[in-house]
Amino acid sequence: MRDAIHVVEKIQFSLPNSASKDEVANLKKLADKGLFKCPYCEAKLIVKSGETVILHFSHLHSEACEESKTVDKAEKKYSKQVERETEKHPAMVSIVLDELLIQSRLRTDVQVEHGYKAKPDLLEFPDIWVQVSDKEFAISIVTNVHSSGDERLAKRIVQRHHHFLEHGMQPIWFIENKELVVEKEKHAIVLWDAEAVIALKTEEDLKWEASLSDIATDLSFFDSYNYIPYMKEFKIDVKSMYYIYSIDDRISVKVQRFLSDRDIKPYRSFLLNQGYEIPFADALKVNKEFALSNLLQDELQREDFIKNNEALLKKLVEEAARQNQEEEDRLKELKRLKAAKEERIQEIKNLIKERLQHDKLSYSPHSRTLSYTDLKTQLRARIGLTQSQQMDLWTNYMLRRVGVGNSHLVWDIVEENNVTTYTELKRLLDEL
Ligand SMILES: [Zn+2]
Repeated sequence: MRDAIHVVEKIQFSLPNSASKDEVANLKKLADKGLFKCPYCEAKLIVKSGETVILHFSHLHSEACEESKTVDKAEKKYSKQVERETEKHPAMVSIVLDELLIQSRLRTDVQVEHGYKAKPDLLEFPDIWVQVSDKEFAISIVTNVHSSGDERLAKRIVQRHHHFLEHGMQPIWFIENKELVVEKEKHAIVLWDAEAVIALKTEEDLKWEASLSDIATDLSFFDSYNYIPYMKEFKIDVKSMYYIYSIDDRISVKVQRFLSDRDIKPYRSFLLNQGYEIPFADALKVNKEFALSNLLQDELQREDFIKNNEALLKKLVEEAARQNQEEEDRLKELKRLKAAKEERIQEIKNLIKERLQHDKLSYSPHSRTLSYTDLKTQLRARIGLTQSQQMDLWTNYMLRRVGVGNSHLVWDIVEENNVTTYTELKRLLDEL
């Protein structure tokens, strides 16, 4: 046992993690004088230490009371649980604990304790247990989270989360996440497996939901953000994550809010802002619940988000109008070209008709002397007339529409329209 009650000051006294020989000897003497008592059975405690045993409090004659035995066992279990954490972890936990203890001294309705001490019967422990009025919180700090693919850790954290809930505590997680996975240009955050479960819904998240419901009513909300939603029906469900950073000896919390979307792996959600940092102490301010945010910052970020949304919508509308205009212009141009082409075809038709009329009137075998044989030769040279095309020309045009003696007419059409293929010629002859 590392903690005892200081008999005179009536406050908790914890043994240091390391102490010099002199300090140990002094602590032993103080204990012998009866300065420390068991927090549970109030029996006098002595201090023990040795080469193989770490510094600890012990009941006289090693007759530990049941409660202290339970807590001792819980402490051992907790030590094992936090073995995987970085060396920063105990420091962070004690900063949080100190911060909360200060508040608990000023408030009769706030109680703070190490998780394993407050709830020694749990299978796994929060780092810190807090009670505010009749509400209990389980605060945990998770360090050493290196990648979003750390599945085993994610599973354990999710388990722990549910375990705390089952025991009537609201879990609050601070994650030391060095790699926030964000698709910035798509406004997306890809959550680590555990984060999808342990994210919180706080008062501020509810305020975000209220603000969003004014500007977002269906899936088209995502259009202006280049975000492809997974949800089939629009639903506003804002949650928040709390990331801890320690820079030198200062610890900050980054508040990150998102609109929950994809609830299967990979967990992807719509990022609501770039997040903001607040000092740890601010995040831990207790009212009825934990502040976990900076009200002013959130207010500003909401305003920003709405303004930005308006701007994006305006841009979207303008872009749509521009595209409409372009399409309209394109159709107009197409219509104009079609009309011009029809006009040209009509001109040619008229011209051919006139010519036909004229030639019929002035026909004389001597006036125009292009034989069909000559026409064939000329067409072969000009448009590469094949044998089957020649047959087609003879049967379907010369014998019918054009007249056998009017080979020169066909040639005139070729010349006037600068015909280069038989298909083109056929089309013109069909118009006769
Ligand atoms: Zn005891």
